[in-house]
Amino acid sequence: MMTGREYVESLKKMTPRVFYKGKRLDRPYDHPAIAPHVKTAAVTYDLAHDPKHADVMTATSNLTGEKISRFTHLFWSVDDLVRKIAMLRLIGQETGTCFQRCVGLDGINALWSVTFEVDRAKGTGYHSRFRTFLKTLQREDLMSAGAMTDVKGDRSLPPWQQADPDLYVHIVGRKPGGVVIRGAKTHITGAVNSHEILVMPTLGLPPEGADYAVACAVPIDAPGLSVVFGRQSNDARKEEGSGVDCGTPFGVVGGESTLIFEDVFVPDARVFMAGEGDFAGLLVDRFAAWHRANYGGCKAGNADVLLGATALLAEVHGTVKNTVVKDKLTEMIHLVETNFAGAIGSSALATKLPAGNWLVDPLLANTVKQNVTRFVYQVARLAHDIGGGILSTLPSDADFESDEVGGLLKKYFAGKAGSSTDDKRKLIRYIEGMTSVSTLVEALHGAGSPQAQRIVMLRQARLEEKAKLARKVIGLGKGEK
Ligand code: SF4
Repeated sequence: MMTGREYVESLKKMTPRVFYKGKRLDRPYDHPAIAPHVKTAAVTYDLAHDPKHADVMTATSNLTGEKISRFTHLFWSVDDLVRKIAMLRLIGQETGTCFQRCVGLDGINALWSVTFEVDRAKGTGYHSRFRTFLKTLQREDLMSAGAMTDVKGDRSLPPWQQADPDLYVHIVGRKPGGVVIRGAKTHITGAVNSHEILVMPTLGLPPEGADYAVACAVPIDAPGLSVVFGRQSNDARKEEGSGVDCGTPFGVVGGESTLIFEDVFVPDARVFMAGEGDFAGLLVDRFAAWHRANYGGCKAGNADVLLGATALLAEVHGTVKNTVVKDKLTEMIHLVETNFAGAIGSSALATKLPAGNWLVDPLLANTVKQNVTRFVYQVARLAHDIGGGILSTLPSDADFESDEVGGLLKKYFAGKAGSSTDDKRKLIRYIEGMTSVSTLVEALHGAGSPQAQRIVMLRQARLEEKAKLARKVIGLGKGEK
């Protein structure tokens, strides 16, 4: 397994084509907009070497018998799934933000299970290819990003009826030894600082959309792949320096990018689905179930830090003993633990798939994510309520450092006697970042928008069986007495 430093060094050997704010970046991993996200992902590598966390951060590979990072491990039992959620909460607590690697983790599990089932149904040879790829990923401890969401164009039309056929990633050529893909994937968490991109379809596809059913692995510096790093709330502050205004050194959310594939050649050994549209929906559902359960772990870890920061700010404000403030903090705790409980519950009720890995309970997993779309906003609202208007009006670092007004600002922004104004500013900036538009929108739409969960919830809830229960308990259809 790599250390954080080795991970960063390994990235620097790669030569991706990265753009940000209109410029191509020669050294993307050192750029102030991207470096915080690299640092956060590096924490996932370092924690795997901490003996205190070995049980959650590492696992034994079922492919090689070697000790590996849990981020490259197949979910081989209920225990693996529960430990994954514990791992996500732990890293969320250590970084206070998104650490990006879970999309690839869920992607490898989805591909492992679905390639097995495609082969079984169609006699293809995807699973053994994927096994070989996964062994390399495990041995070299590579970070993979999951690229599922297409740019989608006109959402009332399927991929093959779009005015521009490239609005969903698709196969545009089949050559001896591989396929050629074109299109763009967007909102891809951690892509810029991953070694590998796992391209997956975004929806189930009928025969006429078969070319859009493509799953494959593409190195981040593959010829023809461009990475355009997205903007976030307050990101210009990162380029002003690393002061208090930037919040923590770990950045806000996952550093999402748009990936543009301009006729990228993917060799057969890296192609795990090429036209099996009838299995594309299954791949999406599997991936989504695992990833939606995750949000009860990582967001709980992030919220632990946010709760701590909010309570500390209340202390500086002198309000922490107020019963109303205590009640609001209690409400935050209730919301966070409800999400965590759902993630653990969905793992505890997992079932074994034909390929041997275990799938979380989809109804509970989707319920977790649906709750996250609401609770993260509610938790943020409570943090705003307790923190006060200063969260959006605090003067800048430059003003606090100014010879002319800095002293006055420190005097007038002092909190409770004995507290540090700089620490108060840090608390304010952390809360501001972790309740910003980027953070909230990520909680709403990451791992699928709210309606996507509701579709699965209704499908999974088996209403007909519930109606049978009602008929039996209430005695319907037995006639009047
Ligand atoms: Fe992992 Fe959470 Fe970030 Fe998704 S949002 S990649 S689950 S930390």
